Amino acid sequence: MQLPGERGRSPNGARPDRSLTVDWRRREVLRGAGAAGLALGLGACGDARPAVGLPPAGARPSLVPMRLTLDQLIDVKCCIRPLRAAGPNLSAERLGDTLVIHNYGHGGSGWSLSWGSAEIAVGKAMSTLPREVAVIGCGIIGLTTAVVAQRAGLRVTIYARELIQRTRSFRASGSFTPDSRVALAEPAGPAFGDLWEKMARLSWKAFRTYLGQPGNPVEFGDSYAVSESPITRRHWPRDPAITGSWKPGGLPQQNSEFGHYNDRIKDIMRQPVDLAPEENPFALPYAQRSSQMYFNFASYGHALLSEFFAMGGHFINREFHEPAELAGLPEKVVIHCTGYAARDFWRDDTIIPVRGQTGWLVPQDDAHYAVRHHNLSVHSKRDGIVVMNNLDPSGQDIGEMLGVGDSMELPDRGPIEAALKTLQPLFGRGGRS
Ligand SMILES: Cc1cc2nc3c(=O)[nH]c(=O)nc-3n(C[C@H](O)[C@H](O)[C@H](O)COP(=O)(O)OP(=O)(O)OC[C@H]3O[C@@H](n4cnc5c(N)ncnc54)[C@H](O)[C@@H]3O)c2cc1C
Repeated sequence: MQLPGERGRSPNGARPDRSLTVDWRRREVLRGAGAAGLALGLGACGDARPAVGLPPAGARPSLVPMRLTLDQLIDVKCCIRPLRAAGPNLSAERLGDTLVIHNYGHGGSGWSLSWGSAEIAVGKAMSTLPREVAVIGCGIIGLTTAVVAQRAGLRVTIYARELIQRTRSFRASGSFTPDSRVALAEPAGPAFGDLWEKMARLSWKAFRTYLGQPGNPVEFGDSYAVSESPITRRHWPRDPAITGSWKPGGLPQQNSEFGHYNDRIKDIMRQPVDLAPEENPFALPYAQRSSQMYFNFASYGHALLSEFFAMGGHFINREFHEPAELAGLPEKVVIHCTGYAARDFWRDDTIIPVRGQTGWLVPQDDAHYAVRHHNLSVHSKRDGIVVMNNLDPSGQDIGEMLGVGDSMELPDRGPIEAALKTLQPLFGRGGRS
């Protein structure tokens, strides 16, 4: 049986011109989707207009469908976002004669804010004019902090229990999502908005220096939102029926408590545009397209580690049990980047766990783009097609409240399989599952 993404023979046996593939598949999508239970917008998926070469402006793009069959699922990873109501901790404190600068608690935005956050932490370290620093932790925050410190001329030793490939960071999804569960609006306050914007802009600039590098550590791709009904910006007004608030323990009680800051960087982030019916390559009547910057973990992790070691960095595999141990290190300036683990290690119980998980399908090199249908998404990257199901177990969309307060880090295939089954019909006949 031919899978939806395969370039082979069309249903009538002829080899299709690649630029026509979506059109014959669209007919299959429309036929198959009803059975799969999706309310498809048949009216909007009108006549086929084959494109030759680059589609002219306004024409339907020729997308190779993603293979979303269960036989392609090769991994399910679970991870915890380190959310702090007040936003990441970038404060400094003294432990004896050691200056400790914190850099942890980036919620669902650690990859995205890493460079900017590192610049701020290293800036604080430079205030004492050190020659060398220790960085505790080698997730995305620790590693970028170490590289930024090296670029500032410092000798750097990373002390960590795990190298980046074994950290929670490597269990994320890997897109530029700088205001995802990064703080709660009220406790973070307006000053955090300014800090966030600085981190986001510095990071954006730094990521761009990795575009086009061998292995494509950082890339841009099209990202589509598709729906049965017109797509509007998600807004969660305060629910007056919920009387509790974040105040007693920093634990958000409803979506309206989260801080949102992306509007501050509208000038650099591409905003979604509505696709006209003749531009919409999907089997649902409404679609939007934007550009998304994203990270390929394997090559990006490798690039960062290579840069760190090439600049003379040292890595010491070590686990710390008490903050006081940091004062015993030879380096008298220490940047502390242990992420969610700071809750135990630094006894910071303002860190709230926010559980999340990703499914990974075999990479599909002929289809690099992302699709979101309500709160289910697939993103085809070079390191695999990442699948997320951000609905609660009853299938409800509870927005950013999903996983809040949940520190259970075992993966659960069920929601990933459910997401694949729902998303398959958007792309083709669906495979055997
Ligand atoms: C499902 C999911 C998807 C996500 N997607 C994205 C995304 O698309 N974009 C984005 O920007 N963010 C995303 N995130 C958030 C992101 O993963 C985190 O913000 C980020 O990984 C935090 O990195 P970190 O370096 O602070 O922590 P970690 O990756 O946890 O690294 C901590 C480091 O500290 C070390 N360490 C810990 N304790 C000790 C100790 N006691 N002694 C010595 N070493 C220690 C560890 O070994 C490790 O090296 C996602 C999160 C989840 C859950």
